[in-house]
This record gives sequence, structure tokens and C-alpha cells, in this order.
Amino acid sequence: MATQLNEKIAGMKGTIKGRVLTRDDPTYDEARQIWNAMIDRRPAVIVQPADGADVAPAIKFARDNLLEISVRGAGHNIAGNALCNDGLTIDFSNMKQVRVDAGNKRAYVDAGATLADLDAATQRHGLATPVGINSTTGIAGLTLGGGFGWLTRKHGMTIDNLVSAEVVTADGKKLRASEQDNAELFWALRGGGGNFGVVTQFEFALHPVGPEILAGLIVFPFAQAKQVLTRYRQLTSTSPEDLNVWVVLRQAPPLPFLPQNVHGKEVVVLPIFYAGKVADGQKLVEQIRAFGDPHGEHIGAQPYAEWQKAFDPLLTPGARNYWKSHNFTELSDDALNSIIEYAGKLPSPQCEIFIGHIAGAANRVSPNAMAYAHRDAKFVLNVHGRWESPAQDTSCIEWARAFFKASAPHASAGAYVNFMTAEEDDRVAAAYGSNYDRLVQLKKRYDPENIFHLNQNIRAIS
Ligand SMILES: Cc1cc2nc3c(=O)[nH]c(=O)nc-3n(C[C@H](O)[C@H](O)[C@H](O)COP(=O)(O)OP(=O)(O)OC[C@H]3O[C@@H](n4cnc5c(N)ncnc54)[C@H](O)[C@@H]3O)c2cc1C
Repeated sequence: MATQLNEKIAGMKGTIKGRVLTRDDPTYDEARQIWNAMIDRRPAVIVQPADGADVAPAIKFARDNLLEISVRGAGHNIAGNALCNDGLTIDFSNMKQVRVDAGNKRAYVDAGATLADLDAATQRHGLATPVGINSTTGIAGLTLGGGFGWLTRKHGMTIDNLVSAEVVTADGKKLRASEQDNAELFWALRGGGGNFGVVTQFEFALHPVGPEILAGLIVFPFAQAKQVLTRYRQLTSTSPEDLNVWVVLRQAPPLPFLPQNVHGKEVVVLPIFYAGKVADGQKLVEQIRAFGDPHGEHIGAQPYAEWQKAFDPLLTPGARNYWKSHNFTELSDDALNSIIEYAGKLPSPQCEIFIGHIAGAANRVSPNAMAYAHRDAKFVLNVHGRWESPAQDTSCIEWARAFFKASAPHASAGAYVNFMTAEEDDRVAAAYGSNYDRLVQLKKRYDPENIFHLNQNIRAIS
């Protein structure tokens, strides 16, 4: 069987301009590494397209040979759906080009580009679009699930800035999806994940940003957590959309601006980003500093593209990860108490609870304007279980699950598909809320056989 398949794969190589890797290729093991080290999957074949034209023959080959298909952008998704076992992975690692049309404020982004690739290209023109906070994340997976980051309060989710996408559907057709072309498909792609086809290129609207912005961290003692979080809640209810303050509760990394005796102790970190004039932001930072008696801070004017990489050292690939997430429309006292309780019993030095503030432009879009439905979400909470050794799997996973359960009564309905683990199939319908039925109908139209099922799967069942 394996020999037969290998012969067929050898035949496929002639139809594909890019690379085709099998298990005996010296780069195969490197190609099947993804961000979450808990995932260890071995595709029968990895196709690395040279351009969009390589995608349809790869899909056809997989279908003709009854191989499962997975699609990899930059391999960050925690569930590990970028890879399959014994199937065909379409891996966009070699398609990272970003073209910027500065005059029309547009970026054309290949499916393998990372946030760093996009930010570097757009910032050469003083432009940007909202993406996430870790520069090695893939534009493809982030966009298809929704996408939020430091610019979301001001300019919306990543999908709110998507203008068009080039898509190859399950039957191998190449379609352009936009408000004008295949509008229903475009609706589904904006939040519907990888369910509807393989996107080869994204077109984004851009906004003037920086290049210099004000950003940094203020770190408070954990003993002041309730006071700091209560004042954070007050600030976020009125603060201008240029200001974006998130919360991270974790053990302090050995940051040079923190006293040594704080390293390894629980702390409350407020990462701050101000999108407007630096001097205006500085006045707001004064208020945040007064939330408590900070252990230290590192904050100042810096290039936007550098700030976008600021968290990369804490979010390197190769660790074991297990995440759970809730949306919140408000942070009640009970929610804060439960956050503080579980941040007080972190099971590893890398585990953390983070709260992203996304209130603003994203809330002004109608919940049925596109597949992503949670336009009431003002905060996204992520329980980020992260550790190094398999021996810690049970304690870290149990901690994340216990906190997820304890905080659930204070959260709003719904979930963010990009933070879901593989075991959360039961939350997919909730993640799409009132848009789910329309997505099921579109799945029937574009992928009736569920060829693209390695994702937060929308099933075409009647
Ligand atoms: C360290 C870290 C930080 C993060 N920070 C943020 C953040 O600030 N904001 C935020 O919104 N999210 C964030 N995320 C979540 C992130 O958006 C998701 O993990 C996303 O899926 C990553 O995209 P990727 O292309 O790297 O992932 P991959 O694992 O490569 O892809 C994820 C899935 O997307 C689909 N897919 C990928 N490429 C394509 C394609 N070309 N066509 C069709 N389907 C495709 C597939 O179903 C695939 O399984 C973060 C994740 C990590 C690990």
C-alpha cells in the first residue's frame, strides 16, 4: 500500500511546481513541527506550494487517493489541525510574499505569511492592519478565525479589514471572494475558519499607524491584584480607543527592569499600547501607573513593528500548551475573584491568564455581517497552560480546565475558535451562535463531503 502511494506521490511531483515531501525526505521532520509541542503527527505527504496554482492538484491528489487533507499557515493553532496523520498536508511555508499598494492602502498577502512579514511590509509605508500580538503567528489561520490585537479597539478585527480572498474550493475551483464576488463565501470565510476552502491570498485594508507608537509594560505586585484589576475595569469602561491595555497574570520572567527578588513571583502585568500621539498616551500611562505600587515598568516610544514582536520571547515554539478561553461583555467582581484565585495557583512558571481588551470598532459591526458572531465581546480571556515536560501534562491541563469551569458562569456566551483545543467540538456551534445554521448551509454548498474537516468543524448535516 505504502509503496503504491509513494509511486503515485512521485507521479504527482510532476504536476506541482513547489516541494513535495515524503517521510524519507531529510526536511520532512522539520516540516512537520508546529508551535504546540503536544502535537506529533505524521502526514504521508507534505505539499509546499510555490504559488496558488499548486493547490488544486494537491487537493485532487488527496481526493483521488482518499487522503485526509490538512492546511498549514504558520502552524500556530493550538489544536494542531495544521497537520494530519497519514494524509496530505498543504503547507504554505514557502508562500510568504506581501505586496503593499500604499496609494490605495491595500496589502496582498500570501497564505504562508506571518504577522511579522505583513507588519514589516506595511510599516515601510507607515501603514498597518489589526493582527495578533505574537509576530510568528500565521496570517491565514488568524484571519480565518477572526483575529484581534493591539489595533482592534480602533480598527476592528482582522476580518473587518479583509477586502477579498483568493480561494480554492473542494472541487478544485479557484474563486475570488469579496463583497462583490461570491459574497456568501466571503461571508463564511470571515470567521468560519478553514471549513470552506483553501485560501491562497488575502487582501487587507490598511490604516496609518506609527511607525512610532507608545507601548510597554507596567508590573504590579500580585498582592494588589484586586485593586489593580478593579481600576483596570474602570479605565476600560471609558478609555479612548487609541488606548489598549491588556492584563497578564503569571510568574514574573527575569525581566531586567524588575528587581531580582520579584523574578519567579506571581505578578499582574499590564501591557499597554497607545495608537495615537505619544505625548497624549503618556498622560494616560500616568493614570495606569497609579493603579498600585508597581514593581517596575518598561514603557516608551518605539517602532510599531518592534512592539509587535515584544512577546515573542515568551511565546516561542516547542513548549507544551493547552488553552481554554471565554468571551466577556463585562468583568464582574466574581469574574475578577476567580481570575485572581487561579492566578494564585499557577502550576508552572509559564502558565498564565491573559485578558485582551477588544471593545470598540469590533463591537460596531452587526453580529450577522459575517460568520464571526461575537460582536458583544469586550474582553477575551485565555487560560494559557504552558509547560515543558510531559510529566506536567496532567497538573497543567487540570488547572486550565478547573479555571475554565470556575469562570464560565461569569463569561458571556460563545467562544473564539482560534483559541479552541481539539477536544472542544461541542463548542463549535456556540462559537458561531445565530450564524451557525447559515454556515451549515454554506458548508453543504462549498464542501458537502467535508473534505476540509481538520479545523473547528462545521458539519454539513441536515
Ligand atoms: C503564541 C500565540 C499567540 C496568539 N495570539 C493571538 C492574538 O493575539 N490574536 C488572535 O486573534 N489570535 C492569536 N492566536 C491564535 C491564532 O490566531 C490561531 O492559532 C491561528 O489559527 C494561527 O494561525 P496559523 O496560520 O499560524 O495556524 P495553523 O495552525 O497553520 O492553521 C490553523 C488552521 O487554520 C486553517 N488554515 C490555515 N491556513 C489556511 C489556508 N491558507 N486556507 C484555509 N484554511 C487555512 C486550517 O484549518 C488550520 O488548521 C495566537 C496563537 C499563538 C500560538
